[in-house]
Amino acid sequence: MRERLINFGAGPAMMPEAVLRRIREEAFDYCGSTVSVFELGHRTPEFEAILGGLRDRIRRLLAVPKDYDILFCQGGGRLQFAMVPMNLFGAGAIASYIVTGSWSRNAQREALRIGRVQTAFAGNGTHAPRPDEYECLPEAAYLYYCDNETVHGVEFRDPPKAPERVPLVADMSSNFLSRPVDVSRFGLIWACAQKNFGIAGLSVVIIRRDLLGLAAPNVPTLMNFSVYSRTGSTPNTPPIFAIYVAALMAEWIEAEGGLEEMNSRALARSSIIYSTLDELRDVYALPVEPESRSRMNVVFRLADEEATGEFLAGAARRGLINLAGHRSVGGIRASLYNSMPMKGAERLAEYLREYAGRTLARKRSSPAQSRGR
Ligand SMILES: *Cc1c(COP(=O)(O)O)cnc(C)c1O
Repeated sequence: MRERLINFGAGPAMMPEAVLRRIREEAFDYCGSTVSVFELGHRTPEFEAILGGLRDRIRRLLAVPKDYDILFCQGGGRLQFAMVPMNLFGAGAIASYIVTGSWSRNAQREALRIGRVQTAFAGNGTHAPRPDEYECLPEAAYLYYCDNETVHGVEFRDPPKAPERVPLVADMSSNFLSRPVDVSRFGLIWACAQKNFGIAGLSVVIIRRDLLGLAAPNVPTLMNFSVYSRTGSTPNTPPIFAIYVAALMAEWIEAEGGLEEMNSRALARSSIIYSTLDELRDVYALPVEPESRSRMNVVFRLADEEATGEFLAGAARRGLINLAGHRSVGGIRASLYNSMPMKGAERLAEYLREYAGRTLARKRSSPAQSRGR
């Protein structure tokens, strides 16, 4: 097999080679049954074991308490922007949103279609709010935030504090299963799969059971969390393949050492890149404040922004692909999810040094020209 390119894409993201190989084998023969895993009926014992195994592993990895249910929904991440308000507005007339970047802003916009919304914090994509910077209404149905802003590279070190009796809701799409989380602090955590634990089309929802059943009667059946709870997440044909891949990923994460290990790898990968960028401030600019820097998405710009295309092309020639920033903000973004090997981060750090060395040498040899740009 040719050496794989190192994919820094923000999602769908890189997957471990061992998992891809296993998918290839089981595409033809699932557990010696000569039936493909794609062909498994969703009421078969084989599929029930896959789904149940995934649920059990997530419960074990995150130490999810008994009074929480774990649901699997279709429709990807953005469907949760609607499902969360449709299901939780029953707990109050208005919801509070902490806006730290584009994903929480989009979530807030969607909630406005469904109910009244208060802005607890309006950030500019450079930091997560400190405790004195946000204010949640004490009567809010829930307090919503995004634990890791994938586009801006802003991550919370610790979750925000909601007033007593206000459930805290987190979008953990881009850092789910990348570190231990105290689930008991949350009313609901949701995440789409294609960043840290699988492929597109699937979202996991961890919900405190007392928040089930609050949906208004006009909420469509397949948008209602309690329907997923009642049916063990099979209210209709679930996305068999996406669930199967998530189950393999959860198994891989556990076998590699669990969430403490995922976190120490994430810290090692991201800090080698941040420290290299910090050292080379003449060439690279970091917009995010140090205490909010994401372990998952390292976002930076070139001091000479016009050279971004050349930087990206040079990276691609070295097998480092998909480093362009999100189309809404430009710049450069290196996404370093669970499956990114340390070697990938090291190779990017090497390239950052090499590129900076060349840029600085060029500046020294023709200062007038670089000033004229
Ligand atoms: C990717 C992402 C989403 C949206 O996921 P889709 O499956 O594309 O709808 C939402 N929130 C965050 C934080 C994300 O990273």
